[in-house]
Amino acid sequence: MNTRDSEHLIAELSNKENYILTPNLKEADLILINTCSVREKPVSKLFSELGVFAKQKKPDAKIGVCGCTASHLGKEIIQKAPIVDFVIGARNVSKITQVLHKKHAVAIDTDFDESTYNFGEYRTNRFKAMVNISIGCDKGCTFCIVPVTRGEEISIPSELIYNEIQKSVDSGAKEVMLLGQNVNNYGRRFSADSKIRDFTNLLRHISTIKGLERIRFTSPHPLHMDDEFLKEFASNPKICKQIHVPLQSGSDSVLKSMKRGYTKEWFLNRCSMIRSLAPQATISTDIIVGFPSESDRDFEETMDVLEKVRFEQLFSFKYSPRPHTQAATLDSKVPQEVAQLRLKRLQDRHTQILDEVMQAQLGSTHFVYFDELKPHGKIAGRSDDGKLVFAKGGEELLGVIAPVKITKASRSLLEGEAQI
Ligand code: SAH
Repeated sequence: MNTRDSEHLIAELSNKENYILTPNLKEADLILINTCSVREKPVSKLFSELGVFAKQKKPDAKIGVCGCTASHLGKEIIQKAPIVDFVIGARNVSKITQVLHKKHAVAIDTDFDESTYNFGEYRTNRFKAMVNISIGCDKGCTFCIVPVTRGEEISIPSELIYNEIQKSVDSGAKEVMLLGQNVNNYGRRFSADSKIRDFTNLLRHISTIKGLERIRFTSPHPLHMDDEFLKEFASNPKICKQIHVPLQSGSDSVLKSMKRGYTKEWFLNRCSMIRSLAPQATISTDIIVGFPSESDRDFEETMDVLEKVRFEQLFSFKYSPRPHTQAATLDSKVPQEVAQLRLKRLQDRHTQILDEVMQAQLGSTHFVYFDELKPHGKIAGRSDDGKLVFAKGGEELLGVIAPVKITKASRSLLEGEAQI
């Protein structure tokens, strides 16, 4: 979502202010830093990066801080780093060309409704489009700062989504990534009329777009994975067989304290339904270790889910207390060393699973959508189930979906021969 926000910022600046991108920091008239704040590390990184930019930038170049850290720190950023010219929150992207001209402007209103705003066109990769389907988040997970920084959830009217995808297909994209904090909660609230009012029907509707061959989405919430949605996921040939099912914890008591709204049993049940309806699908997940009160037994429940589901991809984090969240006020913190050991055990076991998954691909054939040239006469793309695949080839394969027979497998990527 941050990447798409950056594309929107670039589009506004180039359409309305004639800015062009430069890879050279010393040449820039404007430096924008789009920030995350989901954990503490990116926030401290912001201030160290600002120091680097301050030294290297042209004397009159402006610096703007955007995104989630901007949303929750607001004018504190300018107080701490007066070199910053303006601050613009994750929910105020469309205001970029206004704040740009106001010294020390701070636009961080999380009630601001951008759900029908017509952003200009800019895409980093013309073969793949990212399209927002909702803004904000209503979930209120107790560890998470996102509802504070992105405001309440509003879905984007289905016709706007449809038209945006159509436009990207007309200009060469065969794949779309639908974006939202809880994509399968689509339709919870609209601020304008919408023909389609739920996620499963939205998937069906956009599948009718001719020339669109691949649909991905991130992130769905396990709670809203009803049977109808999973059946559509499994049976619709345009939907890529890769699904993110963020677990967070395998312990019912931790899940309750996180306010996730599901149990371990529900989670396992959803994953086994995915595995039986779509055996070729890969399942990825997010796990937090060291949430307040997490005991050794709680952590074993998480390890148990890992053993049972054997996630093909894992994003794992040590719990990081965030301001304005309920969990930050909880006592019984887990010591850092304990959290670190749990994280290591989780990641080590997952690495073994991943190695087995990747080695098992040898000799198989994946359909790969090639979208990026690589050095040494190679080209890269993603398989339907989301794996990174390299093959020999050049321009002639860009924008092509081709079968690739896998001859080499490592932990992070597959390699093979494109059969065309
Ligand atoms: N709604 C998005 C959330 C994006 S944040 C989604 O469902 O994917 C991505 C991940 O960061 C979360 O799933 C969670 O695992 C992790 N995360 C969020 N807040 C965190 C915190 N305070 N400490 C550690 N990890 C956190």
